[in-house]
This record gives sequence, C-alpha cells and structure tokens, in this order.
Amino acid sequence: LRKGDVTAEEAIRHADHLPKKLLIDGAWVDAQSGKTMPVVDPRTEEVVLRVAEGDKADVDAAVAAARKAFDHGPWPRMSAKERGRVMYRLADLMERDREELAQLETLDNGKPIFFSRAADVPLSFDHLRYYAGWADKIQGKTIPVDGPYWAYTLHEPLGVVGQIIPWNFPLLMAAWKIAPALACGNTIVLKTAEQTPLTAMKLGQLALEAGLPPGVLNIISGYGPTAGAALVGNPGVDKIAFTGSTEVGRKIAGQVAQSLKPCTLELGGKSPVVVCKDVDIDKAVADTHFALFFNHGQCCAAGSRLYVHEAIYDEFIEKAVKAATTRRVGDPFGDVDQGPQVDQDQYNKILEYIDHGKNEGATLQCGGKARAGKGYYVEPTVFTDVKDSMKISREEIFGPVQCISKWSKMDEDSLKISREEIFGPVQCISKWSKMDEVIQRANNNAYGLAAGVFSNNIDEVNTLSRGIKSGTVWVNCYNLYDSAVPFGGYKDSGLGREKGEYALSNYTQVKAVYQPLVNPAW
Ligand code: ADP
Repeated sequence: LRKGDVTAEEAIRHADHLPKKLLIDGAWVDAQSGKTMPVVDPRTEEVVLRVAEGDKADVDAAVAAARKAFDHGPWPRMSAKERGRVMYRLADLMERDREELAQLETLDNGKPIFFSRAADVPLSFDHLRYYAGWADKIQGKTIPVDGPYWAYTLHEPLGVVGQIIPWNFPLLMAAWKIAPALACGNTIVLKTAEQTPLTAMKLGQLALEAGLPPGVLNIISGYGPTAGAALVGNPGVDKIAFTGSTEVGRKIAGQVAQSLKPCTLELGGKSPVVVCKDVDIDKAVADTHFALFFNHGQCCAAGSRLYVHEAIYDEFIEKAVKAATTRRVGDPFGDVDQGPQVDQDQYNKILEYIDHGKNEGATLQCGGKARAGKGYYVEPTVFTDVKDSMKISREEIFGPVQCISKWSKMDEDSLKISREEIFGPVQCISKWSKMDEVIQRANNNAYGLAAGVFSNNIDEVNTLSRGIKSGTVWVNCYNLYDSAVPFGGYKDSGLGREKGEYALSNYTQVKAVYQPLVNPAW
C-alpha cells in the first residue's frame, strides 16, 4: 500500500469525472428542482464541486423506479446464482477502481489515504463478495404438519428498501446496506449523507457497468430533513434501514412505526473499554488508542469510555498521552494518522464537548483545542479523571477525544480480611464485586453498541464479555469489522443486526406454503 504519495488535485480530477447527479432508473439525472449542493473539502473548508440536491420529487421518482424494477423487472426473478454473479462483478469492478475510490473517499471525508486504501475500500468490495456468495444460499425449510398436508417456507424479498447512510465511512456504509438487500432480491433507494456523496456516485457507475438492471439501485444525494424524510415517508417503500445518530433514528422509528414497515437502525454509541491490571500495558495502550482515535473518533463504535484498573492507571495514562501527542495530524493525502473532521458542524460540536470536559472538572492531559489555520483539524485530546456523570462520559462526541477513568478505586481491598491470610473457613468474594462494579459502570449508559475488554485472565474476559450489554465485544483487540460477523446495538444503539447471515433476515420475509398430500401413506 502506498502512503501519502498522491495529491488532492488527482482526487479532484477523479471527482470532476463523476456524474454529480442522481441515479434514477439506470440514468443520471439532475434534481427536478435544478438545485445543487456543495461538496466541501474538509482540509481547506472550500467548495470543490457541487452535486445534485435531491428532494421529495426525486425521491418519489426513485421509489417509483425501484417499485417498477421490483414488480416487473428481472432482479427478483432471475436465478439467485445470476444475481450473485452480478454482485461478484460489481465487487471486481470496485477492486479494479480501488485507488480512485480511495482518493474520492479521502477528498470527501478527510480520512487519511492510507486508511481509505487499507480499510474502507477493501472492506467494501469484500462485503459485496460476501453477500454475492449468499445470493444462492437463501432458502427456507420443509415442515412436517398434522393431517394429509406438508408445508414449506419461502424467504422472499421485501420489495423496495429505503436506505439512509452517514458520512463517517461513506462507501463502506453503502456496501453494508446494499449488499444484503441485493442478495435477497430487493430493489433500493439509497440516500447518501449530505457531507459525502462522492464514492456512492462511483459505486452507482460501477453497478451499471456490472449489469445491475435499471431501477434496482437508485442513489439520491440530498439533505436529511428533505430527501431523507421523504424517503422514510414514502408509502411505496417497504422497509427502512438507517445508520446515523440516535436522535434522527428515534425520529425515523416513530415515523415508520405508524406505517408498520420493518425498520433496522444502527445508531450511536459510547462504548466502554475495560483494561484489567495484568495486561501488556504497551499493547493495551496502542489498542485502546486505536479504539478511540481510528477515523478521528468518528466511529459509532469508538472506544470512548476507557476504564483502566488503578494498579496500572498512572503508567497507562503516561503512555496514552504519549500516543496521543505523537499522533501525526495533517493533510490526509500525506503520510498522517489523522486528517480533518468531516465538517464545520462536527468540528464545532467536538470543541464544545471539549469545553464541557474542562468545565466539568476532568483533567485535560493533552490537546483540547483546534489546530490553528484552515481545515477542520482537532488536536488529539485526552481527558483523565473522567466521572461517569460528566457529559463527555455520557454523550457521543464523535471526535478525537479520549476519556479515561480509573476503576476499582471505590472497592479497593481495604478490608483486612481481604488483604491478609485468614487460614480458616472464611470465604471472601471481593474479586467479583470489583468486576461487578466496573460492569455496572460500563452498562450505566444509554448506549450499547460495542465494548472492549483487555485482560489476560480468562475468567475476567468471560465475566466482562458476558456482563457488558453491547452488540459487539472485542477482546484484546478493537475495531474488527469482518463481513461475516453481525454488528448492531443493544439499548439506544439501535434495532437489528447488519452483516453476516443475520442481516439476511432484514431483507427477506417468510412465506409459509401448505400443500395437500394426495396419498399420505407416501
Ligand atoms: P450525523 O449526526 O452523524 O450526521 P445524522 O443522523 O444527522 O448523523 O445523519 C445520518 C443520515 O441521516 C444522513 O444521511 C442524513 O442526511 C440523514 N438524516 C438526517 N435527518 C434526517 C431525517 N429527519 N429523516 C431522514 N434522514 C435524515
């Protein structure tokens, strides 16, 4: 993989060649209003180009195209193997154009080109391949029943699915959404995030080149309250899948509930990471640094509440601060670890949270402000002595702000019976009460998306992994996103699971068919 060897100008040239329009019924069209919206380069805060701004009329046209493609087109009717082959072709084309996709992603989102190349793009085409393989393996059951009958089930596609995605992993979120929906034979209207429309446009071009029939994948760039809300409210849509903030997810769930459409939601997080005292400190520091700072903290699963055992707390902090201060922040087309945040809103929001942290009495160890000059750059920030009640510990910051607190302070083995050898029939169970306390603190939060456990003790690992209420637990690692493994949230972090075999049920419905047996003896 090449690092930092490309200029933004090259990426802008690729962007200039994109259609910059809406993909409806297999054709690139302007918004019916004629409106366009800006694409801002987060490095310079300047508008690099404009793309069509879709709204209700365009969404309605896209839903009508998807409806026609589902009700009358070949996609749900062709052999499942052939659907898989089209998806494999799309994955191959994404791989062929991987460098262009990576550059577009970095230009649009501000993430370092190294990560676009190493993570976003390969994970995306892998996702298409993974679900291409599922296309011909989606099958029901035969069921023995009472009387002269038998029954079987069909796993049928839902129809037209409306999918709304965020800006933090634009191409990957598009892949997570479209791949299982396509494998199951649905047709799609995808609404991209207003900050990051570019890679989905390239994806749309490649989908047509791969032979996806017109109307199967429609792509609308536009704003949430207009285009997004229109998609959610369109009665021609059979299912909504959303990834984004809990606030918007709640609104969408309310709207969808009235129409009784199925809805999957992948929402925010405030993921706890528990570091036990027997760990290799250097490795745990490196892994927990990655857990939070990967993608500039703009991950719904970011390890944003770090509980470090008091026995190693001081050494851990010293090393965590060193990791943060040596983080290379700069132009994402260069050889850096961190580029700018995605836009002005996110940048302002993160700086506000940093102020809250300072005002609420957490100890600022490093960073704590924006980088001088143009671009939405925020210094890698570490707060320690963070209390669970503080805003920075409760709410999702979505930025490079690490919040560390000490655990086991309150339940130190202060009792004599716990410290000294009794040599009698006296059982002391304090070890597990300590665990209980950190589990309670980890769970004392509205979110439940992911968690990290760092320990070399199998009992601690098991207790923490099972005790923490979250959709994913990473043990002695973090931020693994294999296509085959489900991902989604407990509590306010969402509804349903994406990825893996589990996601197929989001895009199918089960039909039970009874048939008579003329001669039940056979
Ligand atoms: P973030 O805070 O990470 O930007 P949002 O939840 O605001 O997350 O946005 C995620 C996606 O949801 C984007 O595509 C955005 O345009 C869309 N969106 C925002 N508001 C609405 C809404 N009211 N209805 C439908 N989609 C929306």
